[in-house]
Amino acid sequence: FKNHKVETKRLEAVEQMGAAISHEIRNPLTAALGFVQLLENDQLNEEERELYLSILKQELHSAENVIQDYLTFSDPNIEKEKFDLIQEVTNVVHSLKPHAQKNEIRIITVLPKNVIIEGDRQKLRQCLMNIMKNALEAMENGGLLKVKVILHYSTVTIRIKDTGPGMTKEQIERIGEPYYSTKGDRGTGLGLMVVFSIIRAMNGTIHAESEVGKGTVFEISLPTIPSDIEIRTMSNIYI
Ligand code: ADP
Ligand code: MG
Repeated sequence: FKNHKVETKRLEAVEQMGAAISHEIRNPLTAALGFVQLLENDQLNEEERELYLSILKQELHSAENVIQDYLTFSDPNIEKEKFDLIQEVTNVVHSLKPHAQKNEIRIITVLPKNVIIEGDRQKLRQCLMNIMKNALEAMENGGLLKVKVILHYSTVTIRIKDTGPGMTKEQIERIGEPYYSTKGDRGTGLGLMVVFSIIRAMNGTIHAESEVGKGTVFEISLPTIPSDIEIRTMSNIYI
């Protein structure tokens, strides 16, 4: 993944997002309501009914996707709690297993036993979910998702790698831009915007590398809290 490297530092205008998001939800809901009204007509033939129902379902899915990608984001406060990062990674991987199985995607995790960090558990969960969901959605025809957590001295890195179609230089430069999506009606273009802004708020960094035809890797690094032993050693030095 040497080509197309980008360090993402984009996040302007995130404040106005709330208003924009409710707009994004209102549109498909209004459309859905319209189709419900059409369906109230009992003169419809089977074909029309099926068509309206499928559009209705699609519109509701769009609204749900916006909420899913944006879930914890509307709350600007970052909680500070200590939690085990590994547990969160494991939970997210578990919740995505049915989606992966349906698309013949294998998931491999390489995780240390536990890694305590301080930050917002819910929001971090949302980040992991948004990145892994993208990876699964990219591998429509199967593949491999590898999730690895690497512990360094004062930081921990979460590496999420897929064998999907990858992104071009132009595409990778645009990720995280509000509403940038290549998925048409199935995308919101909000997932990575939310990710970048949360990671920044948690004093972390995020990098993405991608190569067309090979896949994509996202790397999130977050500060760890020193373990008890390190704290003791440090205080010994200063005594
Ligand atoms: P959405 O998933 O709704 O399209 P995101 O902000 O989550 O919005 O992602 C933006 C775009 O970035 C996607 O539409 C896709 O083009 C690209 N992308 C993100 N992750 C990957 C990935 N793992 N592989 C290929 N393309 C990706
Ligand atoms: Mg997404």
